[in-house]
Amino acid sequence: MHIDGSQCVWGRLAALVSWCSLSPVVLAGVYSTETSHFKVVASSRAMADEVGAKAEEFRHEVAREWLGEQLADPAEKGVIQVAFEPGPSRATTWVDPVGTAHHVTIVARDSSLIEALLKHEIAHTVLLTALGPTVPDWANEGIASRYDNRSRQTIRERKLREFASLNSWPRLDKLFASPVEAQWSYTASVAITDFLVERGGKGEFIAFLRTAGTQGYDTALRRHYDIDSVSQLEELWHRHTRLVVAQKNQDAFRSEHVLVRYRTRDGDSRVGSAGD
Ligand SMILES: [Zn+2]
Repeated sequence: MHIDGSQCVWGRLAALVSWCSLSPVVLAGVYSTETSHFKVVASSRAMADEVGAKAEEFRHEVAREWLGEQLADPAEKGVIQVAFEPGPSRATTWVDPVGTAHHVTIVARDSSLIEALLKHEIAHTVLLTALGPTVPDWANEGIASRYDNRSRQTIRERKLREFASLNSWPRLDKLFASPVEAQWSYTASVAITDFLVERGGKGEFIAFLRTAGTQGYDTALRRHYDIDSVSQLEELWHRHTRLVVAQKNQDAFRSEHVLVRYRTRDGDSRVGSAGD
């Protein structure tokens, strides 16, 4: 799916696709480097080294932030391919059929976009390593998308305001059971993740996902958040979002009026303004 010219997809390779023959990015020149946990392939030595160093830094940071500990070394190093192309940027994380090796591809318009794309994808590899390939799509994207750049976040914030103002909420039972592919599902995934993390912290959210994986969402919600069911979560999330959106609208109205007042006074020395 496309978000402001960028794309992120993660998934499991179908058995029919040969893991070894996967080569989704064509590079003009090929330079590779190896770090403790990754093999990085890029079109220049400097880029391969820089991406490798960043990938290690992000793996460490994301694991500490969400798991409170470092991840064990993987059985197999992950592969990261980076390339530059004009047009929409995109990034993908694949997990092999056995569920142990990760393959990240990043195709960006320019180097300024690499960092956020890389951190998003590294978050996927950390979650897939810690929780296994059955980690639900919505939570995988909900966590990884928190590392997106400002432009992606702004698009989702706009979509969330649309849910609240048009009363056009997506159904959570549908979100929890579907792949995350469309803008509404990215928006809802991040919003629900934020809502639950705000309520109980990151460690509790990971514990909730582990319980949900074995005992279902209703049991996990009761145990970790004192919420009776997915339906009640939906109601609480709607109410919370409406309040946040109303508060932001009020703040925006106030700051706009302050701005108008200053402009008027600076511009033509009139006393008073539209904001008074
Ligand atoms: Zn993603």
